[in-house]
Amino acid sequence: MKTIVANWKMYVGTRESIALARGVLLALRGKKVLPHMVVCPPAVALSEVRKVVARSHVALGGQNISWLVQGAQTGEMTARMLSELGATHVLVGHSERRHQLGENDEMVQKKMAAALTAGLTPILCVGETREEREAGRAKEVVGAQLHAVFAHTQPRTRDRFFVAYEPVWAIGTGVPATPADAVEMHTFIRTHLHEMGKGLRDEQFSILYGGSVDGKNAYTFLRESAVDGVLVGSASVKLAQFSEILGAAMDVLEAQAVTK
Ligand code: PEP
Repeated sequence: MKTIVANWKMYVGTRESIALARGVLLALRGKKVLPHMVVCPPAVALSEVRKVVARSHVALGGQNISWLVQGAQTGEMTARMLSELGATHVLVGHSERRHQLGENDEMVQKKMAAALTAGLTPILCVGETREEREAGRAKEVVGAQLHAVFAHTQPRTRDRFFVAYEPVWAIGTGVPATPADAVEMHTFIRTHLHEMGKGLRDEQFSILYGGSVDGKNAYTFLRESAVDGVLVGSASVKLAQFSEILGAAMDVLEAQAVTK
């Protein structure tokens, strides 16, 4: 299976989110082999988008949660509140939150735990900066981000989660990682998760690539078996681009079905 996660960030308001969600459903209509799909609208649009995707196979995701179960944290939303809005997934530790809003490893760990406790499927974002990659530290940084979360989080056997490898230098820049770099990091992440001694099974997690994925390059990532899917930001709010990405996922899935 391949998963496509659309992160609409703060690009669209409620009306545009509704139109986008309708467009996504239209792009999928009548198709035999569908990728697993999650759309993450801004929080204000969640309840309206929920109505559009209800009874479709498109899942709803939040862009952020608080680590608290309840209490004084003005402007934030708990995992349970997100779940009550119909979301089943949530982004955790997106690099824009880490780098622009000061979200640190400890907060990310607590959010991951809060998501799992509430029964949400977290999409944990990890990735190195340009300087860290150029210094040859990409795997060290990603390994440390994973360690910070899983040293204090024990997923239950029923828990599922995603790790999205999103190099910071590739997000919103138009300069994606190469598929080879993504495969190398995904392989590292998978091995690292297994070696952490948490008893995780392969079926419990999937690894996505994110960072300047568009209609032209999506296929080159999705055809790699180490890449379980893509997390798409800016191209996910341009319906024509996003439809091409969905088309690429369906091409890969159809090709896989033929070779099985
Ligand atoms: C993202 O925000 O998660 C992302 C991958 O953005 P973009 O596709 O715009 O690089």
